[in-house]
Amino acid sequence: MSNFNPEFDPEFDPESSFQLPGSPLLLGDEHWMRRALEMASHAAVSDEVPVGAVIVHQGRMIAGAHNQREMLHDPTAHAEMIAITQAAGELADWRLEACTLYVTLKPCPMCAGAILQSRIPRVVYGAADPKAGAVDSLYQLLTDSRLNHRCEVTGGVLARQASAMLTDFFRHKRAQGKK
Ligand code: ZN
Repeated sequence: MSNFNPEFDPEFDPESSFQLPGSPLLLGDEHWMRRALEMASHAAVSDEVPVGAVIVHQGRMIAGAHNQREMLHDPTAHAEMIAITQAAGELADWRLEACTLYVTLKPCPMCAGAILQSRIPRVVYGAADPKAGAVDSLYQLLTDSRLNHRCEVTGGVLARQASAMLTDFFRHKRAQGKK
């Protein structure tokens, strides 16, 4: 946890939060998004663009990954792609029908395609990506009525933390480039 951004509350207890009146679903989403942010922080440490994803199946986290494009020399190694493969392996089923995918950055077209292929019914993302997002801005791949699978999308969960992590990463990269 040493690389974990201190801005996140390490004392956060999701079990007690679920007992609070009001919006248990939203608190649940924040809890899992924190786990995705944790994954993203591992990416930044290994000099990868800090994007993290987790997949939750019936209240249990069955997959968690960060972007590994640099390490794997693989343009498809986005956090969501790796997490989807992990989750399908864990469930021994390519259909991730009772799963929710949490990702710190709005999915790109490739990942939106994989989300549709794996029939994930719900996606929760953190930061928006107006230039490349394929979910509810540039394209609406996950909710396109012409496709045979559609997905419920919730955006902006812990968006400030997710985008701060990305901004810090790129600022640091630029500073390194100037040395
Ligand atoms: Zn992607």
